[in-house]
Amino acid sequence: TYIFINNKFVDETEGNVSYSDRGYNFGDGIYEYLRVYDGKLYTAKEHYERLFRSAKEIGLNLSEYTVEGLIDITKELVNKNDVQNGGVYIQVTRGVAPRNHPFPSEDTKPVFTAFSKSYDRPYDELENGVKAITVDDIRWLRCDIKSLNLLGNVLAKEKATQCDAQEAIQHRDGIVTEGSSSNVYAIKEGKIYTHPANHLILNGITRRVIHKIANDIDVPFIEEAFTVDFLKDADEVIISSTSIEVMPVIQIDDKIINDGKVGEITKKLQKLFDKSIESNI
Ligand code: PMP
Repeated sequence: TYIFINNKFVDETEGNVSYSDRGYNFGDGIYEYLRVYDGKLYTAKEHYERLFRSAKEIGLNLSEYTVEGLIDITKELVNKNDVQNGGVYIQVTRGVAPRNHPFPSEDTKPVFTAFSKSYDRPYDELENGVKAITVDDIRWLRCDIKSLNLLGNVLAKEKATQCDAQEAIQHRDGIVTEGSSSNVYAIKEGKIYTHPANHLILNGITRRVIHKIANDIDVPFIEEAFTVDFLKDADEVIISSTSIEVMPVIQIDDKIINDGKVGEITKKLQKLFDKSIESNI
């Protein structure tokens, strides 16, 4: 298996990084995760544009790279590893420098790493739905940046795992923000509600696809904050991400949603999401 480190494809056993890497010491870096369907990258441009945005927001210099260049590298990685269905993880740290909080000297090069993996779409869960729990959102106030600092997300997801649930839906003082690794939507009376794409959530690429699909079929997509009670009282609930796509939620804490069945609007969104994969070139 090949990985890509600092402008070279190497065998994964040669994928070593320094103990002084700022990603390792401080979580000082950013990442993306993108999907491969039938050997082709899905919404790669959007993911890499978001990577550049994250870089800009933390003052990380990515000027060595371009969106097109990164797409080419990713395609080559996927081809070399013969990934048909799976994903590619990309991370960039602020580089290797003596451990000291201020940014390192200008000549410090970012450390770029990418690896791929093969796996199938989560067909069972997409058809039957998953369970979620609610937890306090204890993260920082720049959740719009796809930062390597994921401790809050990790603690939330671990709690979900302990509760036999697939996702932890986070809230700030009762206002739903997002899942530990997904966006969250309440569907009520034919309308989709989701938290505005501000500094409290990651503006998911899948969220943007869902927004577009909703527009196409004239389902109102309302970017407004709502409470945990509103969510639990919704007709249908979904979570979304690059890896789980349009995922139905059929239980939140002890509350069963829509009698534990996947709702009609959810099914429509899933169908059109499948279409967007089929028409992906
Ligand atoms: N929010 C968080 C916190 C996430 O980690 C993810 C997954 N990357 C998402 C939302 C969904 O984003 P996307 O649809 O771009 O995968």
